[in-house]
Amino acid sequence: IAVSKRTTGTGTTGTTESTRRSPDALRALAAAGAAELGEASVDEVIVWVTRNFNTDAAAVACSMADAVLPHLVSRQLPGVDVLFLDTGYHFAETHTTRDDVARLLPVRIVDVLPEQSVAEQDAAHGADLFGRDPNLCCALRKVEPLHLVLAGYEVWFTGVRRDEAPTRANTPLIVWDERNGLVKVNPVAAWSFDEILDYARQHGVPVNPLLGRGYPSIGCAPCTKPVAAGDDPRSGRWASLAKTECGLHL
Ligand code: SF4
Repeated sequence: IAVSKRTTGTGTTGTTESTRRSPDALRALAAAGAAELGEASVDEVIVWVTRNFNTDAAAVACSMADAVLPHLVSRQLPGVDVLFLDTGYHFAETHTTRDDVARLLPVRIVDVLPEQSVAEQDAAHGADLFGRDPNLCCALRKVEPLHLVLAGYEVWFTGVRRDEAPTRANTPLIVWDERNGLVKVNPVAAWSFDEILDYARQHGVPVNPLLGRGYPSIGCAPCTKPVAAGDDPRSGRWASLAKTECGLHL
């Protein structure tokens, strides 16, 4: 299955099969980077990537809750691809933020699309799959499309932070991503939510207006509720279900 995507910008996305290094070479590079950097700063981590990868081999994953990670990375890798999982279920504010990022930052937005539209998924699985089998819905609309698009890169950046959830408390700065077969870099792993907001304010970085309306964690509209001040920031995601993760970072 080929990944479906739209790009905002020029040129082709990702690397080609012939220029991509082998999984063994990339796995060794991830291990060397983790050993070399230890608990390095955000900028030191990104500089390590610039020394070891070409811009077209790198991608930044962004939910469009804020554009801090694309801003941090694009300062040192201008023109980098920013992957936005366009599930078909996003808030209007999330799309507006995506458009602001495309307009204001030196990045190329790649809208990563599921194989099926929402209407096609409804026809195949019944309406509102998110309410009956959210794991399957996330697999179809997020996990699999991301897996397919990452095959075109050697390294991806994520905005995962240790303070987001107990399951993320040990997030490393650099790690080999076995499932997707490339190096995974989490430069802001040690940052707090307040540090993200402070950075956005200081640098005029676009943020999703929903962040200021009680949504500290923003996913698809049917699966994201506002939370009360002081509550677990991810408690609004799949709020009435046992599910806490979409599966992208397991
Ligand atoms: Fe489906 Fe909800 Fe997952 Fe979005 S967050 S892909 S709507 S289950």
